[in-house]
Amino acid sequence: MCPDASPLPAACPVASAADRGSRGKAQPAALDLFIAPLTWEEPCDLQVFLTHEGVTYGGAETSSDRDVDGILWERWGGTPTATSERRWSEHHPVRQYASMERLLCAGCGRETDHEPGLGRRWILPADPAASVDWTQPLQTTTPPLCSDCALTKPWLCERLRDGFVELRVREAELVGVRGTLYSPTAPPRRREFVPFDHPDIRRIVAQQLVREVRGAVVVRLGAPPTRHTLSCRPS
Ligand SMILES: [Zn+2]
Repeated sequence: MCPDASPLPAACPVASAADRGSRGKAQPAALDLFIAPLTWEEPCDLQVFLTHEGVTYGGAETSSDRDVDGILWERWGGTPTATSERRWSEHHPVRQYASMERLLCAGCGRETDHEPGLGRRWILPADPAASVDWTQPLQTTTPPLCSDCALTKPWLCERLRDGFVELRVREAELVGVRGTLYSPTAPPRRREFVPFDHPDIRRIVAQQLVREVRGAVVVRLGAPPTRHTLSCRPS
């Protein structure tokens, strides 16, 4: 399991000022997104082997490729370029891990505000016309947002422009990972969810931590943002 108190994998020295400042060209804070990869950040070209004990990078594997629970993570790298932008629709596995595990803000990487009786703030894609019981358990790979980022960052995300829900959440347990699941008898399957306590956890190369949001309270259920908020879009 991944208790909140567990340290990050050694490969994940995230949420540091150095990491947040790793972009080749600084962007205004309102137009930045902590968990999104920069244009030069990509998965490393590593061969994955499946053994009786599970997936491994073989001789190329280092201790920093696994988290404290022994789960193998996708290794990313790249060479910083003079100019780079965020890929808003994706998550960098190191920073997503940090945000999800420590409940840091997806927008800026800082602490999220936890208001007594209300919990933290989550903003997720939602169809305003759909009937959804948001109090039911919901699995997500999206970290929470701080109050400042909740005002601007969601409108920079393509998926949220079609509709969103803002939730206040008091309970959001880490339940598993999403990634590429390997099998001895079938091709790898991408974007598979595996709970921490399932035997398949040995056969997955993780890309995202997953939390289960429970008993959420809806604050806003919105349509696309206004012209004013869209003006924050990067050109
Ligand atoms: Zn923030």
